[in-house]
Amino acid sequence: MSITVITFDLDNTLWDVEPALIRAEEAQQAWLLEHRPGAAEAFDHNALFEFKKAVWRRHPELKHHVSQMRKQMLTELQLAAGYSQREAQQGAEAAFAVFLAERHRVELYEEALGVLEELAQRYTLGALTNGNADIYKTDAAEYFDFAFLAEDVGASKPEPDMFLAALEKSGAPAHAIAHVGDDPDHDILGAQRVGLRTVWMNSRGRAWPGGTPADREIGNLKELPAAIAGLG
Ligand SMILES: [Mg+2]
Repeated sequence: MSITVITFDLDNTLWDVEPALIRAEEAQQAWLLEHRPGAAEAFDHNALFEFKKAVWRRHPELKHHVSQMRKQMLTELQLAAGYSQREAQQGAEAAFAVFLAERHRVELYEEALGVLEELAQRYTLGALTNGNADIYKTDAAEYFDFAFLAEDVGASKPEPDMFLAALEKSGAPAHAIAHVGDDPDHDILGAQRVGLRTVWMNSRGRAWPGGTPADREIGNLKELPAAIAGLG
């Protein structure tokens, strides 16, 4: 039985996430400096990360909810600087909005649109992400039939929930679905556990870390159509 559905990880599979994250953090910081003086001046990137880790430890229930977690961190940052609960919550919403706008301005890999267009003619395409990127806010939107975010499903890859959501949504059997992703654990191991076929996107030429290797490995999305056809 050949492949009928392809699910994609997004960050570092369809685009390089770091530039968008850096711009998003800068926009968030600029908002805080302008609108909440005293809340963010003392925090450079590393100090903010330490603050964030402390919030993670206090709120394990937000583990799979990256957007809520960030808003919680932004709220606590302002409360610590003496802003009222109301100001802090309003500020968190506003600072998060500017963060997210930049987070969504991702630049697809040069070859991605052409490859997705080609694949969309033959396969059902879906997106499965642990992050808060929205495939429908990118130029690739028209090629995708469904998308699941960890924060909507309530569990992150490699947990089975998002893969199972893709199975249910597509109606295809597990062995007719190929999952493509860059993370050996989140994407490959997670997909293998629910019986999906797997393609490891290894654009940085890393060594496979161990465990059952993916069915196929690619270094560039251009190799994907042939890799998927080879799974049939
Ligand atoms: Mg990824």
